[in-house]
Amino acid sequence: MIKNPKLAGVLFVSLLSILLCSCGSEPSVYRTGFIAMDTYIDITVYGKNAESAAKAVKEEVMRIESLMSVTAPDSEVSKINAMAGETVTVSDDTEKVIRAALEIGEESGGALDITLRPVITEWGFTTGDYKIPDGETLDNLLEKVDYRSVKVGDNTVFLPFGEQIDLGAAAKGYAGDRAVAVLKENGVESAIISLGGNVQALGAKIGGTSWNIAVNNPFNEGNMCLLKLENASVVTSGNYERYFESEDGKRYHHIIDPADGYPADNGIVSATIAGESGLECDALSTAIFVMGAEKAEKLWREKGGFEMLLVTEDKRIILTEGLTDVFTNLSDMEVSEIKR
Ligand code: ADP
Ligand code: MG
Repeated sequence: MIKNPKLAGVLFVSLLSILLCSCGSEPSVYRTGFIAMDTYIDITVYGKNAESAAKAVKEEVMRIESLMSVTAPDSEVSKINAMAGETVTVSDDTEKVIRAALEIGEESGGALDITLRPVITEWGFTTGDYKIPDGETLDNLLEKVDYRSVKVGDNTVFLPFGEQIDLGAAAKGYAGDRAVAVLKENGVESAIISLGGNVQALGAKIGGTSWNIAVNNPFNEGNMCLLKLENASVVTSGNYERYFESEDGKRYHHIIDPADGYPADNGIVSATIAGESGLECDALSTAIFVMGAEKAEKLWREKGGFEMLLVTEDKRIILTEGLTDVFTNLSDMEVSEIKR
């Protein structure tokens, strides 16, 4: 059985919109949706210029996609991959995303690794032509995986011959940051954007109340909780977002542990990160999903600047103290708090 992530996105967004519906006198609002970056993108903009600002956001997201898509042959990522062994000139945008991903690669002890592309391809996650590789094949491919071999600087990227990158763990987060920047340039003060599992909230709702951002329940596709936030990015990586099942019913999801090349299996079924930067939250959500709860807690203490909400496979919610007051549990899972 293959689950359709786009459909899941639409479902998520429609649930989200019910929760976001502000009743009473409605200010000018413009809502639009489209498919880009391999997911459904939903934009709701309030106030003056809502429609033109939303259209500018769409253009910007398409621009980021055209730079960072791993499948579009003309993207900068495809050029870096095709020219591995040589230095390639890239935009400020691509340089920024690669830099951030390498930094979080380092901070996460290699849990986030943008050079995993050969392994991801072998599993078929980019094409949908899924298969279960054997351990030896994965070990061989992992010899071509090492984020530390990527050199980036002054609008250039160097990747050693034979290596391949994939910015799928962070590019949507960056697109969210760019979307907010474009909205602000257009004078918008209130908007909410959903890019698949990523939510980017600008300002507060009209009237000043915070957004209620819904986080999916990884066990039943309903909403697990609400987070009441303003000016925030909320990004979830989950084992339910993209996966296939073998004939005996075992689930293989798309977040790979660079330690062995298999789908990460460190006790986490979903990792939600809240913070200011979509790029950082996105990169962290993938890294923390791979790391598991214990190492994630250590990273949270050492790095700071973000909050996290983990769901474990034994159905517990673990959240960091910055989320306690903004969290409404909609599930029957037990909640524990991590304090500084
Ligand atoms: P989504 O794209 O579904 O929101 P993530 O942000 O967690 O989810 O990114 C997962 C994508 O990142 C995968 O589809 C794959 O392209 C890539 N990827 C998978 N595992 C890793 C990893 N450990 N490090 C870096 N990128 C990864
Ligand atoms: Mg991510």
